[in-house]
Amino acid sequence: MNVRSLALVALAAASAASAQVSDTASSYGRIASELLRTGLPRQGAFRLLEQLTSRAPHRLSGSAGADTAVALAKSWMEQRGFSNVHLEQVMVPHWERGAVEKAVLEQRGKPPVALAVCALGGSIATPGRGISAGVVEVKSFDELEKLGANAAGKIVFFNRPMDPALLNTFEAYGGAVDQRSRGAIQGAKSGAVAVVVRSMSLAVDGVPHTGGMSYAEGVKKIPAAAISTADAERLSRLLGSGAPVRLRLTLSCRTLPDVPSANVSGEIVGSEKPDEVIVVGGHLDAWDKGTGAHDDGSGCVQAVEALDLIRTLGVHPARTIRAVLFMNEENGLRGGRGYASDERRRSEKHTAMIESDAGGFAPRGFYVDGDSALRSFVNRWKPVLETVNAGRLLPGRSGVDISPMVATGVPGFGLDPENQRYFDYHHSDKDTPDKVNPRELEMGAIAEALLACMIAGEGLPANVVTRPR
Ligand SMILES: [Zn+2]
Repeated sequence: MNVRSLALVALAAASAASAQVSDTASSYGRIASELLRTGLPRQGAFRLLEQLTSRAPHRLSGSAGADTAVALAKSWMEQRGFSNVHLEQVMVPHWERGAVEKAVLEQRGKPPVALAVCALGGSIATPGRGISAGVVEVKSFDELEKLGANAAGKIVFFNRPMDPALLNTFEAYGGAVDQRSRGAIQGAKSGAVAVVVRSMSLAVDGVPHTGGMSYAEGVKKIPAAAISTADAERLSRLLGSGAPVRLRLTLSCRTLPDVPSANVSGEIVGSEKPDEVIVVGGHLDAWDKGTGAHDDGSGCVQAVEALDLIRTLGVHPARTIRAVLFMNEENGLRGGRGYASDERRRSEKHTAMIESDAGGFAPRGFYVDGDSALRSFVNRWKPVLETVNAGRLLPGRSGVDISPMVATGVPGFGLDPENQRYFDYHHSDKDTPDKVNPRELEMGAIAEALLACMIAGEGLPANVVTRPR
């Protein structure tokens, strides 16, 4: 059977009653095998990832690299014949790392020791000569509070590792990341002059990992940086030995006024219900360390490749399947929020939002962001998804960029790849395309294409109530 008749079978089956689930399953099974046969040899997602990471390696919101990435992504969609290719403008923050970031251990009678450090995104700079102060180590905000006045005038060193006992590394990240995101606020409340945070990584090595941090109104802004996990252990040992240690932290980062940027959107228009939309997305911005290959270059190229595979197979989905590459997930979520509030949304009904933002590793399945009725509905697709290695359907959060839409009641799906290595690379100089396996990356695109086709063909229960958030 050729792909065009296969598509017709899929459509016919899709519009049939639910009693014909088995027919539907077999036609989607054929689409699944066509996706594998077409995608795996060509590795289209990786070809795009190489372009993105070489032409726009640094694409933090507001940067020239982000503008390059937007133009490049739009050209991909146009070249592939997607419909309604356009930009949706959003205003984004503009933070720059600057040329200087140094952390130097100063011990009496010993030569200074440079630590591997990077500013956290959004941090203020230090004065030009840096901030030199004694260091206090804590593992939690409670511990910091108990220090009382002993933290005043010091650099607070947050050193609670991601919990290596947890199988799910995202859970381990979630259990440690408050130190990075709110450390500067809690540190300043205790009278600290700066904070340094152990990098959010399970690997013990010399590479620092950046990431978002925040300040609070009415709380003094103090500089915040991450040191490598190896240097965190070294600093901790030194402090544990009772040696008097001073740290000199020098950062030259700055925040500039917001600038215009954009989400990039293109689609395959639905043949029967064009106003009902399934979004497949990722975020185009990335931290300025490494080249954002896993986070989230992978999610972006998978979205474009997923639509291109559907188009190449000649499948004509009943509902519209749209690729959206969101801007500013890392330090503002302006793209995700902008998409949800854009007036174009008023004339559309979103059937589902699918995001890949957990790395370009081999997929296992999807997190299903909705109630039990939604989960039991999508379980009918499990056998077909299993044929592309994506049959594990678990309840959970789907994606940050799509969360503003999911919060309004749209079912969300988050691609769930194997994640043991993700945080070794995340937000660091190690996040480069040589860490991405082209076949594994393509498998994610195939899984998204298949799920999008099934949702586009069959729809989802209309009365889904999303989990409280
Ligand atoms: Zn991401």
